[in-house]
Amino acid sequence: MRIFSCPSCGGEVNFSNTDCLACGQPLHFDIAVGDFVAAGADCTNRPAIGCNWVAGDSGLCWSCAMTRVIPETMEGENRLHWAKSETAKRRVLAQLGRWGWFTPADTGRLPVFRMLSEVTSDGPRDVVMAHGDGEITINVTEADVLERMERREELGEKLRTMIGHIRHEIAHFLFLRLCDAPDFLPAFRALMGDETADYAAALARHYDAGPPEGWGAAHVTPYASAHPHEDWAETLAHLLHLVDIIDCAVAAGWISAEAPAGYDAYAELDGQKVITLGADYAMGVNHINRSIGLGDIYPFVLTDGVRDKLAFVHGWLGAGPVSVPVSSDGTS
Ligand SMILES: [Zn+2]
Ligand SMILES: [Zn+2]
Ligand SMILES: [Zn+2]
Repeated sequence: MRIFSCPSCGGEVNFSNTDCLACGQPLHFDIAVGDFVAAGADCTNRPAIGCNWVAGDSGLCWSCAMTRVIPETMEGENRLHWAKSETAKRRVLAQLGRWGWFTPADTGRLPVFRMLSEVTSDGPRDVVMAHGDGEITINVTEADVLERMERREELGEKLRTMIGHIRHEIAHFLFLRLCDAPDFLPAFRALMGDETADYAAALARHYDAGPPEGWGAAHVTPYASAHPHEDWAETLAHLLHLVDIIDCAVAAGWISAEAPAGYDAYAELDGQKVITLGADYAMGVNHINRSIGLGDIYPFVLTDGVRDKLAFVHGWLGAGPVSVPVSSDGTS
């Protein structure tokens, strides 16, 4: 994510700031222009969750309007967890918006979010993060860092974040959107396999027996080897991690001949270059983290097989929203 300027005083502003630290002006981000705007009304959710996006016609902002279900805000820490989850979601939407996905200019179908908590007035309930036919379910309870760490240990994962969850689930929806492009599915199947294979059986096998021997040669995580749909979602989430890492590094002034000042990772057409740059920056931060006893921010190995898949995802995402060709009878 780049660093923004306050529309009133020009001071430095971070994406999640609700007010300018320099002049005190309330801030409003507008996804239609990808920047903070000088005038705008507060999103209805601003008092409850600190949403800093500009209100649309409904009173909610573009991001909050995609959320159809919210947790019971009076129960436990639900309001705080919902707020953290929406913050992560806004970041992912703003990122995808850099390629034109899911912005007001995107005429395709938009995702719908259900933000659910395990804490309800009827007692605890299970919530499974999932995507089904355009509807994304997020378990906001995982916004709690201790809850998330516990699950990460249980599942033996190297990285588990709310942004990662949202990138993964939104990837399943992007798959649906890309299926509108006639060339997408054949190319996907040639690289990642047949996604019509029995999904429930594949996941049961994964949780029972673990990943197959040698999974890392062509899968970014063990879970990616469970089923072609999960390969796609995990790979896409990692591509978004890498591009955001580059964007942040360049914004912080960490520039080079390959990525000079003002370099736009979202405009880069060379997928392999994006992967190399992102991985190099990540290794640099891993190295820095060790200086103060912190873990690696990006503890993954990108093999040639994984890089091919990341480059494939990059090509399709970077091309922007798929416009469905209109057939001769006028339907699409
Ligand atoms: Zn200011
Ligand atoms: Zn909002
Ligand atoms: Zn998934």
